[in-house]
Amino acid sequence: MQQFDVVVVGKGNAALCAALAARDKGASVVMLEAAAVEESGGNSRFAGGVMRFAYDGVEDLQKLTEIPDDEVKNTDWESNTQDQFYDDLYRVTSFRTDSELSEALVTKSLDAMVWLRSQGVRFVPNYRAQSAIIAGKRKFFGRMPFEISGGGPGLVQYLTDTAVKKGVEIFYETRAVSLIYDGERVLGVKAKRRGTPVEFHGRAVVLACGGFEANPEWRTRYLGPGWELAKVRGSRFNMGEGLKMALDIGACPYGNWSGRHAVSWERHAPEFGDLTLPHSSYRHSYPMSLMINAEGKRFVDEGIEFYNYTYAKYGAEVLKQTGQFAWQVFDAKMKPLLRPEYGDKAVTRVAADTLEELAAKLEGVNAAGFLKTVREFNAAVRTDVPFNQAIKDGRCTVGIEPPKSNWAHPLDTPPFEGYHTTCGITFTFGGLRINVESGQVLDVNLQPIPGLYTAGEMVGGLFYFNYPAGTGLVSGTVFGRIAGNGAVAAALAA
Ligand SMILES: Cc1cc2nc3c(=O)[nH]c(=O)nc-3n(C[C@H](O)[C@H](O)[C@H](O)COP(=O)(O)OP(=O)(O)OC[C@H]3O[C@@H](n4cnc5c(N)ncnc54)[C@H](O)[C@@H]3O)c2cc1C
Repeated sequence: MQQFDVVVVGKGNAALCAALAARDKGASVVMLEAAAVEESGGNSRFAGGVMRFAYDGVEDLQKLTEIPDDEVKNTDWESNTQDQFYDDLYRVTSFRTDSELSEALVTKSLDAMVWLRSQGVRFVPNYRAQSAIIAGKRKFFGRMPFEISGGGPGLVQYLTDTAVKKGVEIFYETRAVSLIYDGERVLGVKAKRRGTPVEFHGRAVVLACGGFEANPEWRTRYLGPGWELAKVRGSRFNMGEGLKMALDIGACPYGNWSGRHAVSWERHAPEFGDLTLPHSSYRHSYPMSLMINAEGKRFVDEGIEFYNYTYAKYGAEVLKQTGQFAWQVFDAKMKPLLRPEYGDKAVTRVAADTLEELAAKLEGVNAAGFLKTVREFNAAVRTDVPFNQAIKDGRCTVGIEPPKSNWAHPLDTPPFEGYHTTCGITFTFGGLRINVESGQVLDVNLQPIPGLYTAGEMVGGLFYFNYPAGTGLVSGTVFGRIAGNGAVAAALAA
């Protein structure tokens, strides 16, 4: 048995932020990580590293890194004011996001980024995926101009280095199994370390050990039949154990338990994320494509929004199709706009000089249905409206279902290419109910459970149905800090 002020379960972004916040206030802190060092860091380690936070202009971005004067001048840095952030979050969650949680997220997001910088995290402008040169000037779109240097792996490394330097103890291969609870307060965690039972006693416990995305049985139970067939984009360690431990002692479930973040993903990707192939399986360029199912039909408006606002819900649409797959089809005009990973080796791609030849190569697709879809689509495009990838250009289709609202192009210029996709689940939305001021977990009577805090994917109530890109990491930092501060206050008062 070992005694600490604060026991943190997990070692992803939320857990590291909680641990650092608690340590900075003088607490002794231990982190329990189910994975071995090589696989540690949870979904945070798999993240691309883009972050959505509120900022009014380039002056706020300069709080995060030095930007050379010519780049400041020659770039349209856009803004993501608090109002814009609220609008996006409320719109994509169909106005279901919890008002207190979303207020904390939006209003504390910039400060969270500045704090991350103070903890050793480095940021760079996201020229790679969120900008284009338009009329000689670089323009950002999608309101996410910054990403972490080194992406998710960089974030976890920076924070781990700082935590170790500051004296946080980390136990790897240590899977938390249950909470030590005397019927009134949480007193620690029972865990298994390399197969041996071990107890960690703490004055406060922070659960930051992810959702249940890696657990096919829970996915089927909560998300519905078919979800066991989704590929897992990230960590294989997030099995819902933290949620179970908390629910077992009466914690209140909250949020969209049948909801999840799930995207279009390489059809033949491995069962779980692979840290050696960081972006190979991403298929985020679909707004420029026709997405085709087994019947040879389109089934979503690929261009209704920037991908940032649709990618997290379109994975579920792919999963619903016959055979749980779709092909993203492009012609030569769109090829230069595809994200770099479309050119990787581990990509299921077919190419052809004619549409008939392509139809024969799209495995599992009704060729006649596909050719009819393309004929009708091509005839429906408003070619009189100019194409502009940096704005919602209104270049749409007329008279077909589903429509394509922006970036519509007749598929007419060979070579044609098809990319085979399926559904990749990122994380689950169902979680626990918390007190927003302290991150303390509430019980089913909405009373705080003494000694129990949570953060990250385990917080329920923020995301419903959909998700604006770049919010998971910021949420982990905002609520990780809140939980770490809440836990340390309770621990030092005990
Ligand atoms: C491929 C991919 C790309 C993404 N890209 C982005 C992006 O660019 N921007 C963005 O904002 N978000 C992104 N996300 C989402 C983001 O990564 C997550 O929302 C966020 O990392 C969740 O952080 P967390 O700390 O709550 O969970 P995690 O980072 O998943 O951490 C959970 C931790 O708990 C551990 N654990 C689990 N069970 C136990 C147990 N029983 N005992 C001990 N430890 C346990 C895990 O090993 C892990 O260390 C992406 C996710 C994926 C998968």
